Amino acid sequence: MYLCGLLEPVPCGLSDTMLSKSMQKYSIYALLRNALNFHENWHRAWRSPAPKPEYDVIIVGGGGHGLATAYYLAKEHGITNIAVLEKGWIGGGNTGRNTTIIRSNYLWDESAAMYEKSLQLFEGLSQELNFNIMFSQRGVMNLAHSLSDMRELKRRVNAIRLNGIDSEILTTIQIKELLPIINTSPQSRYPILGASLQKRAGIARHDAVAWGYARGADSHGVDIIQNCEVTGMLRKGGCITGVETTKGIIQAPKIGIVAAGHTSVLAAMAGIRLPLNSYPLQAMVSEPIKPIHPCVVMSNAVHVYVSQSDKGEMVLGAGIDGYHSYTQRGSFHVVEGQLGALCELFPIFSRLRLVRQWGGIVDISPDASPILSKTPIKGFYINGGWGTGGFKATPGSGWSFAHTIARDEPHELNAPFTLDRFVSGALIDEHGAAAVAH
Ligand SMILES: Cc1cc2nc3c(=O)[nH]c(=O)nc-3n(C[C@H](O)[C@H](O)[C@H](O)COP(=O)(O)OP(=O)(O)OC[C@H]3O[C@@H](n4cnc5c(N)ncnc54)[C@H](O)[C@@H]3O)c2cc1C
Repeated sequence: MYLCGLLEPVPCGLSDTMLSKSMQKYSIYALLRNALNFHENWHRAWRSPAPKPEYDVIIVGGGGHGLATAYYLAKEHGITNIAVLEKGWIGGGNTGRNTTIIRSNYLWDESAAMYEKSLQLFEGLSQELNFNIMFSQRGVMNLAHSLSDMRELKRRVNAIRLNGIDSEILTTIQIKELLPIINTSPQSRYPILGASLQKRAGIARHDAVAWGYARGADSHGVDIIQNCEVTGMLRKGGCITGVETTKGIIQAPKIGIVAAGHTSVLAAMAGIRLPLNSYPLQAMVSEPIKPIHPCVVMSNAVHVYVSQSDKGEMVLGAGIDGYHSYTQRGSFHVVEGQLGALCELFPIFSRLRLVRQWGGIVDISPDASPILSKTPIKGFYINGGWGTGGFKATPGSGWSFAHTIARDEPHELNAPFTLDRFVSGALIDEHGAAAVAH
């Protein structure tokens, strides 16, 4: 687990203030030095403290977004008396279950700003956290299979470029040059007419993102408390005062809920009904094979997307299961449809063996955009509704949510994503970006 951070030299610009005194720097020199001691002197990457009775801020949910929020609260706002409460293990929710696609090619200005901020933070994250998150900017391609797909793709590419974000159109010949194994036959059921490509997009190691933020937050003094389920909210008048947990009552004047599929369950404990629905979303990986798939490919029409992990596995995803659930698994017919689509796009994969399949629980709002918001309860903040596409937003979400909690007002990045939009009607409809294309 720790080795993924070791092979990367510490960049010269990394100041001591970015790493606490207690944090061991991961570098090639540290690796060599510790080799002399048979690797027995490595510190734990984060502590496992017992919860204190009171904190300044409690974050509920130890996924990437919760840990990033705690990290930026400490680093950007100097608030360090924080507990992150996680009912299982950190990164064990959607953060460790997603297919790791990172991109910022969103249609609407509000989304483009949020996801581009995240992408820029991802670009420097391994250096900032001194933890190799294995971010690989290999490009994400969205296929078009009909003339109306092509028109929609061009509209999106133009809108994205107007926001200063890289995006381009590829012809079928260019697609084939980049990805020789793809089936571009005009005789196929859904012929490929073109694609959009964001070259700066890509994939990263999902659990390394959680571990890197956990290590960074811990080094600033944040308490990360695992196996601690929040079972109730404590209120006094219109203010939040603490939480009931499986490890007892913990008090705090500010509480941020960052619990993905369980966000609405936790909000309901405080008496707030959120416009969120929870659904299973499945993914799977094949046996590892030689490198043959150099970018990420998505098709909304045939309902599949695929990338190749650094280990060589093909990582496959599709759309949500069509019913509500909290079971972290899905139905077989979704898998069947997904694999049929895969073999149609890449006939060569019909000989691949699948190794693992799993599900996560995604929380989807009416406009398929997130909710990063204050609530009518003083000190009670919500960060959820990231649905099928929140991994890519982890840094920007944590960064702007930390601002919201610290200043008790949204940052301009997340101001459009507050709960008010469901009253005002100023929705940010990203269903087109969230159907299959996570
Ligand atoms: C199969 C799949 C594929 C995906 N693919 C992509 C992709 O390619 N790209 C992309 O950008 N996004 C993708 N996503 C979405 C992405 O994974 C999520 O939007 C993102 O990881 C959410 O992060 P989080 O930290 O908010 O949630 P999580 O990582 O789920 O963290 C929430 C945590 O809250 C904890 N919790 C819940 N209830 C309680 C409680 N009562 N007390 C204490 N803790 C609690 C949970 O245990 C969990 O660890 C995918 C999701 C799935 C399921």
